Amino acid sequence: SATKKIFNFSAGPCVLPQEVLKQAQAEMLDWRGSGVSVMEMSHRSKEFIEIAETAERDFRELMDLPKTGYQVFFFQGGASMQFSAIPYNLLGGEKKFGQYLTTGAWSESAIKEAKKISSPVEIWPTSGGKFNTVAPSADWQISKEAAYFHYCDNETIHGVEFPQEFPFDLVPEGQPLICDMSSNFCSRPVSWDKYGVVYAGAQKNVGPAGVCISVIRDDLIGTHMRKDTPLLFDWKQFRDAPTKMHNTPACYPIYVAGLNLAYMKRIGGLPHLEAEAKRKSSLLYDFIDASSEYYSNPVDVKYRSRMNIPFRVKKDDKLEAKFLKEAQEHGLIELKGHRSVGGCRASIYNAMPYEGVEALVNFMKKFRDENQ
Ligand code: PLP
Repeated sequence: SATKKIFNFSAGPCVLPQEVLKQAQAEMLDWRGSGVSVMEMSHRSKEFIEIAETAERDFRELMDLPKTGYQVFFFQGGASMQFSAIPYNLLGGEKKFGQYLTTGAWSESAIKEAKKISSPVEIWPTSGGKFNTVAPSADWQISKEAAYFHYCDNETIHGVEFPQEFPFDLVPEGQPLICDMSSNFCSRPVSWDKYGVVYAGAQKNVGPAGVCISVIRDDLIGTHMRKDTPLLFDWKQFRDAPTKMHNTPACYPIYVAGLNLAYMKRIGGLPHLEAEAKRKSSLLYDFIDASSEYYSNPVDVKYRSRMNIPFRVKKDDKLEAKFLKEAQEHGLIELKGHRSVGGCRASIYNAMPYEGVEALVNFMKKFRDENQ
């Protein structure tokens, strides 16, 4: 078509693969001869149960999740609802607090929620809130008494991501490790045997907003739950419900996420997605570093995110406003940094094509040359 090519660098909800959107479009009015749209189906119908079960199966295969030992849930309420649900589900036993590693805005949100009903401890209490690196693990203040250990694998706002291997040996033995993987989920393998709970809002790498995928180890469900746990936070209630649907799930987002999970498997799975994430993010970081008198990224190289890349244009707010305006005119949209940190941010999730990052780098070169 004659429409201008748009590259969407939004941090979320973000771009989905064209193939997935087209498939959803083709099936929207009549899902595979059923005569109804997925939006109109009962969540108890055999058709929708098949859709949800296929999505779970594709997720398990894509992520190489062990066949037994973990439950997969498609919860509503986003990743934020899981911040709240975690302390309720895990602090009803003898251990009354969790420990939190805060490396950016989202892990701060998680501990803030826990503070409402408990006294969580901070593993890195002196972070200072700048969040452009992570304290050396020798400086982590680790509690052996905590009920769980929570961290965020990729901080969407600050652009701080843990390298592939988190220092798992620092987590006290027997203490469940809980991870918010919202913004880098399905972009590299997960060492499942190290985790108690992994949760991720779908709206970055997986599907439309409205569904949060939570992977929860069997022994953590219903065993340490507070008695006052609200119904929709209650993992056991969902596990025990028919097809794990206690109430109406976000049917349509689950369906589209399922299409994307199958698509991600088809195009080569995690090895392909991981290699692409490296290739795309390196292209942008290498350019930023090569023009460091003009563009800058504040994050310690070891913790630079492959998914969210905050950057400044000459550290000049006015120039950044011009940059954002002209970028938009070039079809490069949603490059504004989060309101809490300012500047610019390019989010390059799984569905961002390499050519989108190339277009961004070419624009950045041109802008630099024209605005010396
Ligand atoms: N955690 C991370 C790392 C995020 O990036 C976000 C949203 O951007 C959230 C949690 C909150 O997710 P939700 O909006 O699904 O509650």
